[in-house]
Amino acid sequence: MRAETVIIGGGIVGLSIAYHLATMGHNDTIVLEQHYLGSGGTFRCATGIRASFTTEEHIVLLRKSIDLWKELSEKLGFYYLRGGYVWLLRTEEQLKAFSEFSKIHNKYGVPTKIVEPEEIRELVPTINTEGIIAGLYDSLAGKANPFEAVVSLAKASKEMGVKIYIQTRAEKIIVEKGKVKGVKSTVGDIQAKNVVIAAGYGSREIAKTAGLNLPLKNLPRHALVTEKFREVFKPLVIDWTTSSYIVQTNAGTFIIGADVEEEPDKKALPRIDYIPTAARIMVKIFPWLKYVNVLRYWTGYYVMSPDKHPILGPVKGFEGLYLATGFSGHGFMMAPIVGKVLAEWIIYGKPSIPQAERLTLERIEKGELILEKAVFG
Ligand SMILES: Cc1cc2nc3c(=O)[nH]c(=O)nc-3n(C[C@H](O)[C@H](O)[C@H](O)COP(=O)(O)OP(=O)(O)OC[C@H]3O[C@@H](n4cnc5c(N)ncnc54)[C@H](O)[C@@H]3O)c2cc1C
Repeated sequence: MRAETVIIGGGIVGLSIAYHLATMGHNDTIVLEQHYLGSGGTFRCATGIRASFTTEEHIVLLRKSIDLWKELSEKLGFYYLRGGYVWLLRTEEQLKAFSEFSKIHNKYGVPTKIVEPEEIRELVPTINTEGIIAGLYDSLAGKANPFEAVVSLAKASKEMGVKIYIQTRAEKIIVEKGKVKGVKSTVGDIQAKNVVIAAGYGSREIAKTAGLNLPLKNLPRHALVTEKFREVFKPLVIDWTTSSYIVQTNAGTFIIGADVEEEPDKKALPRIDYIPTAARIMVKIFPWLKYVNVLRYWTGYYVMSPDKHPILGPVKGFEGLYLATGFSGHGFMMAPIVGKVLAEWIIYGKPSIPQAERLTLERIEKGELILEKAVFG
């Protein structure tokens, strides 16, 4: 078999890269997915999309990603809503930090603002604001349905000629004299000029087969979903003190995430203490939640890079190899813009957004880390 580009990983990121390559006229692509599409982090995520980060790289890329979310959802017909994010702040110190964050957001065109408890109650009906002194409101943020997004990106890519092989594992990336030659897979060898690692939690393992050590750690994370309920509020709400969050999906269910301590690279296993921990935190903020049943609970990974920014683009010394991994808990929201800049890198040798070029592996090898402060969950 032969293809111009092989993408390892059929999550939202791999599919977005395939889609953008095809829309730019490069449809000779094979996507390899070891299980089923979306089965990694993508179908386990909390669906949140925001640009309210604290670094220029994150804010600029995610601002563009948000534009693309709107464009793609309208074109492909999947659910996406700008329902906003509300960050709950309980101490003067938190308020000071978020007032500074808001200035950074505004500088790069993200219209966040500090809000009083009264406005929080208007934005998030039924919330108990006891102990909350203020909030940060991000009106540009939102949520999308990951199932619909994956299915529609895959369908549109296939219609443009992309081949997607599910239940197909990439076993080795073939590199000769510093140049990528293809991939050994469970359905045979595929010769390729370009290979993209978009393999989420499997990225480090497959990169190793090319002789590349990626500085990534898979951090177990947990989330639960409740039964369906009438629409109560639109924003994703984050309790900054406990690093917990809640969001109502378009199906009416609530996804709740709480930050329970986990060790990086430990297998993500269900924990008996997770549901009571998460429930206790959220029932204090939304007392009526105690009447809503928990339907299901799952684990997944945040694929953490040393500075909580993704690792994108080409790799020095490995011609034809590209990375789109290490999203540190933000890969769903970044997928549209990452698909676009990776496609540009592959086709033109350069992305259209200069901030993306600062996110190659080289920054880590040189010790030039860019620290992100606004990470939760
Ligand atoms: C509880 C939780 C909540 C989250 N909430 C959010 C959120 O609100 N917003 C947000 O933006 N992000 C969130 N994330 C992070 C988000 O899920 C990920 O960053 C995102 O899904 C990454 O997409 P991906 O395509 O890179 O990876 P994945 O979806 O993991 O896809 C990678 C795919 O590669 C496949 N694969 C791996 N190795 C191989 C191989 N050797 N051969 C073939 N296939 C292979 C895997 O099976 C997998 O399907 C959350 C994550 C968790 C766990």
